[in-house]
Amino acid sequence: MRISHRFYRQTFPEIDRFPSERDATLALERAGIYRFWAGTLAGLFFAPVLPMMIIEALWSAPSPMLAILLQVSGAGLGFLAVVVLCRRSIQRSLRQQLRARGEAVCLRCGYDLTGNVSGACPECGGAVA
Ligand SMILES: [Zn+2]
Repeated sequence: MRISHRFYRQTFPEIDRFPSERDATLALERAGIYRFWAGTLAGLFFAPVLPMMIIEALWSAPSPMLAILLQVSGAGLGFLAVVVLCRRSIQRSLRQQLRARGEAVCLRCGYDLTGNVSGACPECGGAVA
């Protein structure tokens, strides 16, 4: 797994706060990055099937173009659903791991809370525990 890849850095900006690439990789593994990819593959595989079943139940023979369009859009929606659902749980786990290392980070939004004395995150208003 190359966590220096742009996708990981943009999807999980928390990984930049780990001291080394190895630490960040371990943190991502602990956070369930492999479940994320397994879910994504399952979404890509199964998402096209559901719209096709619905279409075939409504129309006896959908045109090939419509079928392809529905399958591609179904796969895209399945991928997005998995990304949205899993991203938050992975981000939360990464933030908890950063906290366990003594990093001041907001669990809710990931904001850097170093030097914060107000007790509330200036970005989202979450409590600084
Ligand atoms: Zn916050």
